[in-house]
Amino acid sequence: MKKILVAVDLQNDFIDGALGTKEAQAIVENAAKKISEHNDLIYVTYDTHFEDYADTLEGKNLPVAHCIKGTKGWQLNDRIQQALTGKKYTKVEKVTFGSVDLPKLIKQDTNGEPFEIELIGLCTDICVVSNALLLKANFPQVNVSVDANCCAGVTPELHNAALKTMGSCQIKITE
Ligand SMILES: [Zn+2]
Repeated sequence: MKKILVAVDLQNDFIDGALGTKEAQAIVENAAKKISEHNDLIYVTYDTHFEDYADTLEGKNLPVAHCIKGTKGWQLNDRIQQALTGKKYTKVEKVTFGSVDLPKLIKQDTNGEPFEIELIGLCTDICVVSNALLLKANFPQVNVSVDANCCAGVTPELHNAALKTMGSCQIKITE
């Protein structure tokens, strides 16, 4: 059974940059440890915007420029980058909350072999839940889980609400 780890948006802007929180800072070490110990397929998503962010629908609803491609805020947190050093992983840039490319890449890379998927990262109530539900929709026979200790939400309340929602959708929540 192949074990897939999806590390969602562990970028500076979501940790100690434009949209950083102390809860996000608090899970970095857990997430880095999880990545270090994972020796199978890893996908690393990057929230990716451009200079026209303010003109996008996301930008109109959330007028805080973040993850502009090429900036420090767009880069992975140093500790996460360090955990990935020497590992083979697939970088997945996405302009949306959930990545429509991610299920396609996973399908290609697993090539009919059985697999399970674990997600970690930021933010629980936006991009983690979006990707978890997209993966569940694409792979209804695959176990999808989320490690709550390696995720943080926009607020702790939203983090907990998203975990509950994912639990309702048969995504296993571990900690
Ligand atoms: Zn964004």
